[in-house]
Amino acid sequence: MTTHTTDVFSASTTDGKQAVQPMRPAFRVGEGWDCHALVPGRVLMLGGVPIAHTHGLLGHSDADVLLHAVTDALLGGAGLGDIGRHFPDTDPRFKGADSGVLLQEAISRVRASGYDLLNVDCTVVAQAPKLAGYMASMVQRMADLMGVHPNCVNVKAKTAERLGPVGQGLSMEARAVVLLSAHAEGA
Ligand code: MG
Repeated sequence: MTTHTTDVFSASTTDGKQAVQPMRPAFRVGEGWDCHALVPGRVLMLGGVPIAHTHGLLGHSDADVLLHAVTDALLGGAGLGDIGRHFPDTDPRFKGADSGVLLQEAISRVRASGYDLLNVDCTVVAQAPKLAGYMASMVQRMADLMGVHPNCVNVKAKTAERLGPVGQGLSMEARAVVLLSAHAEGA
């Protein structure tokens, strides 16, 4: 059996009936989205990097909207539910939590489920500040947290053209897509 075998359905022939076996595709995609309000008096964290700004994101953890979107994409890709199931915001252990630690824990659960991360592509939607100068740091930090090469991580930034709550500087959003590949058999 090769790495890319897709054992979608296997048949049990003892009684002539088809028995559906667990699906383990060679590749799986995952998507994630997150949104947090911007408020004064909080450090703005994006992609695990502190960003100079007048406001920060509000949340139970450090509210790193980008890492949360990536964490959800990873968990979703592996069929493991979502960030709230793994790290509930009602749990005092996660109050003020470093979202990088949650991301590391999520990818270790993804790997334990039999999948590796091939690449992640993500977008931060923020009216301000300009993020171009932080891109390389965010990519490197996210790659380090997930244990992959930086060329497996892509971060884009867009404004919301002054439209809606993001465009009015009341919140930020992030989206992420990941591609996972199944471990080689026995790996
Ligand atoms: Mg969040």
